[in-house]
Amino acid sequence: MTYDLHMHSHFSDGQLSPLELMSLAKEKELSVCALTDHDTLNGLESAQQAAQGLGLTFINGVELSATWNKQLLHVVGLNIDPENDFLKQGIDQNTERRQLRAKAMLADFAKHGIDLEEGLQAQLPDSAVPTRPHFAQALIDLGKAKDKKQAFKRYLVKGKVGYIPMEWPSLADVASWIHAAGGVAVLAHPLRYKLTRTKLRRLLADMQECNMQGVEVSTAVTDKQQVDMMADLVQEYNLYASVGSDFHSLDQPWARLGGAKPLPKALKPVWDLF
Ligand code: AMP
Ligand code: MN
Ligand code: MN
Ligand code: MN
Repeated sequence: MTYDLHMHSHFSDGQLSPLELMSLAKEKELSVCALTDHDTLNGLESAQQAAQGLGLTFINGVELSATWNKQLLHVVGLNIDPENDFLKQGIDQNTERRQLRAKAMLADFAKHGIDLEEGLQAQLPDSAVPTRPHFAQALIDLGKAKDKKQAFKRYLVKGKVGYIPMEWPSLADVASWIHAAGGVAVLAHPLRYKLTRTKLRRLLADMQECNMQGVEVSTAVTDKQQVDMMADLVQEYNLYASVGSDFHSLDQPWARLGGAKPLPKALKPVWDLF
């Protein structure tokens, strides 16, 4: 069985529709996949249908933005019930925060003589949530950056035009939404936050307090040494391990769909909890 439990569609900052994404998953010979768009459940129904038609096992997922000790964290909720009202209310809060942030970002760009209003609209299909990569693409289309990397260097980040500081819900809050919907809460890409080892341990301990059970140990960009290091930590904290490529688009060769390697045998996989 080949698993990929972290990927994005065009309902958040991914390139592909849920159907295109599931077709690619089939082509890559994945057996189980989860769609985990940022702060939205809107792509799940069509992904589920597409997966069913293709004979893939589909897991309902979401990637929630949270704030922990002033740090932005991503928490993946896996095997959630997308009809759960408590989860839906929480997600509505995050979607609304994203919409308010997008307005404030547009205003900040306008203040600096950059009109991104139309360019942003062109990036967003109906019922997609606005994300910074949408702004990055609008900046590229306007000739303000040559690629996304440059857009995220010149704009959109702390100290640059288009950066709006955000206070997202707490780890305890997002975990409670996921749990209410019967899901498993997983810390996404733990090494992306560049935490010291001490802080990473504090985070894993705080996760335990919130009954979060999983950590993404294998991602498309983790090497063997990093997987081994995280494997030791999840065993020490008695957590379950997940696998996710964080696939967004075909032009990002470092995060290919299905590009996360299988877990070390000694770990308990999150799907044991599904
Ligand atoms: P947001 O959640 O709207 O703040 O956007 C965060 C998303 O931006 C992440 O999930 C990544 O997909 C993307 N992102 C962040 N930094 C970069 C970067 N330097 N280059 C390309 N994409 C990035
Ligand atoms: Mn993203
Ligand atoms: Mn993420
Ligand atoms: Mn992601």
